[in-house]
Amino acid sequence: MIELVNLTKTFGSGKTATTVLDDISFTVDAREILAVVGPSGAGKSTLARCLNLLERPTSGQVIVGGEDLTAMGAARLRDARRRIGTVFQSASLLSRRTAAENVALPLEYLGATKASTRARVGELLDRVGLLDKAGHYPHQLSGGQRQRVGIARALALTPSVLLSDEATSGLDPDSTETYLRLLTELRDDLRLAVVFITHEMDTVVRVADTVGRIDGGRIVEHGAITDLVLDPHSSLGRALRPRGP
Ligand code: ADP
Ligand code: MG
Repeated sequence: MIELVNLTKTFGSGKTATTVLDDISFTVDAREILAVVGPSGAGKSTLARCLNLLERPTSGQVIVGGEDLTAMGAARLRDARRRIGTVFQSASLLSRRTAAENVALPLEYLGATKASTRARVGELLDRVGLLDKAGHYPHQLSGGQRQRVGIARALALTPSVLLSDEATSGLDPDSTETYLRLLTELRDDLRLAVVFITHEMDTVVRVADTVGRIDGGRIVEHGAITDLVLDPHSSLGRALRPRGP
């Protein structure tokens, strides 16, 4: 569903150039959750921003549903980017809009009718278990609820890829659990390809089908979670294996 081919991102030029992503390639299928883990500064957020083309990669391709987003002009790219829904750490909801109004935003931009927007927003809030919070403003919601409104908004334009960058960082264990359960439901029900970016190893075992470890802008390890856990030579496997009593 999503395919990265030799993705590179360099900021600046000449002597001050820094390569933040260095030749990254991987694929995520429909109905797969790839967890991308790595220390702070490894390049995870830059990867997220290149993946949804908020940031133009310096070279390489981002292919979604067989179409190369990096080869598109502005108009086609605007359409194609709808196939990728994104949730960030702070959920970035508009504070003066209710949960329902936040979820409605992408639909309004598209020029959907009021009636169809209302119906779709209801469906989306129901999906994330927050129908009863439709009229609440962000400050009246918990951190976990805000992240779920963020998911509902990310799903508004029926994407095939969902990108989550540190969305559970700072959430309490219960809210984290609810968020992770929602991700697996969306994977299964909507057949989404999910890229779940985190620095918290313990969340990974709960959701991921595959894991990629990024360090210094490179993918240094990548594989199915079951293979990694069984591999005695894998440092990711060691970090993922449950510790004995
Ligand atoms: P992570 O999300 O894994 O913590 P980031 O992708 O935010 O890492 O950052 C990776 C590196 O890229 C950092 O060293 C950061 O300073 C650098 N970086 C990120 N954005 C820019 C930018 N716009 N210009 C220059 N350097 C950047
Ligand atoms: Mg980050």
